[in-house]
Amino acid sequence: MIGEREAVDKLAAVVPANVRQVCATLTDGGHEAVTVGGAVRDALLGREPGDWDVATSARPEQVLAMFPRCIPTGLQHGTVTIVTGRGEASHVEVTTFRGEGAYSDGRRPDEVHFGVPLVDDLARRDLVVNAMAYDPARRVLHDPFGGLADLQARRLRAVGPSPDPFANAVGRFTEDGLRVMRAVRFAAVLEFDLDPQTERGIGQPSVLASLAKVSRERVSDELRKLLAAPSPSRGLVPAVATGIVASILPAVAAALGDADLGAWARVVDAASAESRLAALLSPLASAAPGLDVATQRRVEELLRALKFSVAEATAASRLVALARCTAADAPALRRALRDGGRALGGAAVSLWRALGNGALADRAADILERRDPIAAAELAVAGKDVIDQLAIPAGPRVGQLLKALFERVLDDPALNTREALLALAQTLP
Ligand code: ATP
Ligand code: MG
Repeated sequence: MIGEREAVDKLAAVVPANVRQVCATLTDGGHEAVTVGGAVRDALLGREPGDWDVATSARPEQVLAMFPRCIPTGLQHGTVTIVTGRGEASHVEVTTFRGEGAYSDGRRPDEVHFGVPLVDDLARRDLVVNAMAYDPARRVLHDPFGGLADLQARRLRAVGPSPDPFANAVGRFTEDGLRVMRAVRFAAVLEFDLDPQTERGIGQPSVLASLAKVSRERVSDELRKLLAAPSPSRGLVPAVATGIVASILPAVAAALGDADLGAWARVVDAASAESRLAALLSPLASAAPGLDVATQRRVEELLRALKFSVAEATAASRLVALARCTAADAPALRRALRDGGRALGGAAVSLWRALGNGALADRAADILERRDPIAAAELAVAGKDVIDQLAIPAGPRVGQLLKALFERVLDDPALNTREALLALAQTLP
């Protein structure tokens, strides 16, 4: 068990100089100033910390008065950005200790109030591991809820004032439905387990009702981060068990039904970064000889509704539409790869392998490696060649000929030489 002494040493070694300086200035002015949240957590875990956030007892107007260069980023929330050097990397966000009023919309507090002690500011956060603070000027770790012990146990518990973790979970997660997405994201990213009472809290109707009110952008941001974890299954399995997946991706939950959850989650783990979103949605795939257009449309709509980008939705929907491809021979498989697009070839191979269809993956990998043409642009002739050779005018006929040549090359890639294609063009109807 890492002791408090050791924790302080660890933190002292990694707090950046500009953050330390901001805290020192506030402390010298008679205020409390601590680093809080994710960076403290990550530093203690030996992970590369993201942004170092500072929390202080000083009021926003006092903070503004103490630093010559600052940006009033979000004064109503008590946040001031201090510019400590050149560029955004030098920015330090300082937020006044905050207490929060009721949350009546499941997204944000109706009011925030300042003038509360640090412990209240920590108690309004999401998880115990995110509710620790380190005071670099005094070299003190503030850990009123047992964050160190949770880091040690690799456990995620909802933070809160109650000794009953279930009550804290229901309370905190009902206030802000995004917190449950963060909880399963951290389970995957940190490779932690959800505390059972916290997990039970997620499944409560009031909590899932709050999740339904969270903006879809924020939901998909969390999903994206979860999928980037080494093993997304660590977050996905509890996300299904608690009803998160039924809430955000009801079609996937319905398609999964009573199927083996573990098997599906392992498919997602096995998929490469570029095929993970498709692997997540692979229960929606249906068997088809090539790209299944109905599946593609359905998945694309679903991802756009979740505010994934057009590029993400296009790629993932094509991959899901190919996921259960039954192409019997090489020409059919080349056509399937054509419909996916060369850029997605590697992702399709990874997805098929992850889904346990190694034979199809191997055949497709061969096609891609041999560079069999799978796009019209990869033909050995262009429109101008056809125009010159056949002495025909530019026009729709040229496009028809190229299309016919491409079809022949999809059947037999050996035909893809200039000579063979121009000779063939003469004979086409
Ligand atoms: P990361 O930056 O790696 O995504 P983080 O924990 O630092 O993780 P941030 O969004 O940077 O996440 O938030 C900083 C801190 O603010 C968190 O550690 C947590 O204490 C608190 N926090 C963030 N979002 C919420 C939320 N929705 N509800 C309660 N507290 C939150
Ligand atoms: Mg952060």
